Amino acid sequence: MLRDFGTCVVWRRSGDKLHLHNSWRFTPHLMEISFKKQIEQLRLGEGEVFHGEGILAITKALLQSGVSYIGGYQGAPVSHLLDVMVQARELVAELGVHVEACSNEASAAAMLGASIHYPVRGAVTWKSIVGTNVAADALANLASPGVTGGVLMVIGEDYGEGASVVQERTHAYAMKSTMLLLDPRPELPVMVDMVRHAFAMSEASNMPAMMELRIRACHVRGSFVCTDNVKASISSLSPMAEPAGFDYAKLAHPPVTFAHEKRKISERLPAARQYILEHGLNEIHTGRHADVGIIVQGGLTSALLRALQQFGLADAFGVSDVPLLVLNVTYPLVPEQITAFARDKRAVLVLEEGAPEYIELEIAAALRREATDATMATAPATASSTASSTASSTVLHGKDLLPAAGELTPEVIMNGLLAFFARHLPAADTTSVKALLEAAGQRRERIAGELDRALPARPPGFCIGCPERPVFSALKLAQQQVGDVHIAADIGCHSFATFEPFSQGHSILGYGMSLASRAGVSPVMQRRVLSIMGDGGFWHNGLLTGVQSALFNGDDAVLLIFKNGYTSATGTQDIISTPGRAAKAQSADKLASLTASNRTIEDTLAGLGVKWMRVVHAYRVEAMRDALTEALTTEVGGLKVIIAEGECQLERQRRVRPWLESLRARGERVQRVKYGVDEDVCNGDHACIRLSGCPTLTLKDNPDPLKVDPVATVIDGCVGCGLCGENAHAATLCPSFYRAEIIQNPRWHEQLLAAVRQRMLRWLQPA
Ligand code: SF4
Ligand code: SF4
Repeated sequence: MLRDFGTCVVWRRSGDKLHLHNSWRFTPHLMEISFKKQIEQLRLGEGEVFHGEGILAITKALLQSGVSYIGGYQGAPVSHLLDVMVQARELVAELGVHVEACSNEASAAAMLGASIHYPVRGAVTWKSIVGTNVAADALANLASPGVTGGVLMVIGEDYGEGASVVQERTHAYAMKSTMLLLDPRPELPVMVDMVRHAFAMSEASNMPAMMELRIRACHVRGSFVCTDNVKASISSLSPMAEPAGFDYAKLAHPPVTFAHEKRKISERLPAARQYILEHGLNEIHTGRHADVGIIVQGGLTSALLRALQQFGLADAFGVSDVPLLVLNVTYPLVPEQITAFARDKRAVLVLEEGAPEYIELEIAAALRREATDATMATAPATASSTASSTASSTVLHGKDLLPAAGELTPEVIMNGLLAFFARHLPAADTTSVKALLEAAGQRRERIAGELDRALPARPPGFCIGCPERPVFSALKLAQQQVGDVHIAADIGCHSFATFEPFSQGHSILGYGMSLASRAGVSPVMQRRVLSIMGDGGFWHNGLLTGVQSALFNGDDAVLLIFKNGYTSATGTQDIISTPGRAAKAQSADKLASLTASNRTIEDTLAGLGVKWMRVVHAYRVEAMRDALTEALTTEVGGLKVIIAEGECQLERQRRVRPWLESLRARGERVQRVKYGVDEDVCNGDHACIRLSGCPTLTLKDNPDPLKVDPVATVIDGCVGCGLCGENAHAATLCPSFYRAEIIQNPRWHEQLLAAVRQRMLRWLQPA
């Protein structure tokens, strides 16, 4: 035991020699996520100025719009909306707003059913496109009868750089189900105003509204002048006395669905278009180059202006020399607005992100239809001259000059504008842009070359000490015994195992879909298939689509569930099986006991009839290897479930570190664990790294001048999860790992013991 600035280190090691090592000081840096400051901003009233991120501005705008209920399912980039609302219990109670953390996007979408009959406004949020896919059934059945109270879905359009899901567009849903789609220019006053209009337009047209927010719009910072929060006339503070009368037309059932379809076309879309025009939702910016124009999705406006700025065609305040039609509402379009904008222009460029080019095609159709109408209304002899006076003579560009797929960054847009200006605005000075693009290309090539040489690839991976890492180590070992198995992977942190050093997972079909996705593979595979899902995925979807189906069909299947206590990948939100939710802030010991007693998943599976079930501590590599081996080889048929139990380390550290720091600050004894590698014993084969992948288990130069191979080392940041020791035993690695217990504010007898040990060590290992 060593004394070091109030810190004691106890060494327990597996080798034959004791080593001194610098103790490390505990530095808390992660805190329990708190939205206290954001919640204060939500309380701002008339005339006060809000400063902050886009997604919080949208949240404030919902409260200013008099919503009665808010729900949703978390996911990037809109998680904050629900996270903040869930913590703002006092505020929402004062306003009578009901907040529901839904179990998935389908339940969030179904929640909007409240607005079919009743004049109550509601908002929900989720990540698209995946969330909208999950919600699609409820959305179609909501959009068919239409809504009475305004409905707004705040959709995180997870597209382009940083996206974590398949690259598809929410736009398709707006078109197929006839729902409003807003894509506001990413400036806070515009975004806030569009929330207000979205509710009003939804009520005016009876159409549910969606607002897509790209990641940059969610995180753009700015300010806007607030209005007071509005208490809804119908809310949890003033509930309705009676339900609505029976009205078959409000059901999404034949035969009224036929009438709904007609009403969408004959009443709702015209009402929405009228609202868009009357309230000027789409912005028309004039410019001195009046004979050309650009039609842009609202959300892309900042990128476009940035690109125009490089041509000297826009200023830093967003004033453009090229006329712009900014579509803050991208569905429905207003054909007469499009044709009016295009009419006096030689050429128009449509800036639309992603594929297919729904907007461009609709604009092309609008222009063509106008020409056809003009032709039909004119005598054959004069038809050609009339048609040429309409917008049909305007040349339309879009995906012919821009990439068909992928994000439209300012650089990509600049390339498109170069091509557009070369044909239709030759007066534009393109010299500096060409030089800029060329320099950017050269720089990119140079950096790519240098990085290739200097740095290894750094794929994303598990957090330090993640409880899921040991399970994949165990799975590697189990497969050494039973042979390689087909692994049906899933959405969640565990999908990091698809990267090195694990490279495990054959398919990912959706959140909670792993067990269902192996149903076609299992029957045609000699070895059993392993399905993996997290507890978040289990409750989101997996219980019904996978477990129930496997049990119903009597499938011989193996399911591994990570019970880490949260939907960690979306920001560690609580789920029904989150242990000790009320006692979270109390103590680590308290939580540990609550964790041990939590059996929501186990009880559910047992209740459904799962007979073969093992609960294994995630960090017990040998036990997990044996459980996996047994599940994959046992004679027992039917569904076999292994539950890997271990709290998400990220959440654990957020909770435990501030608590430990408070103990340390009060002078109380604190004991922590850290692992290390004895560099004299390390044989340099690095099997430990291949089996673990922990970022704090890495390499350093071999201090022995006679050895060339680098040795393994554990750097600061190790949270002492124990995997290093477990792997060393389970895989019979070299005995170089040691485990150190670090004691801060040690007691007198511990300091005495440390002093004795130091003397002994100096005596045994003289300098
Ligand atoms: S967030 Fe939690 S579950 Fe996800 S990788 Fe980090 S520690 Fe593991
Ligand atoms: S014990 Fe090993 S695996 Fe666990 S955090 Fe420390 S270095 Fe990483």
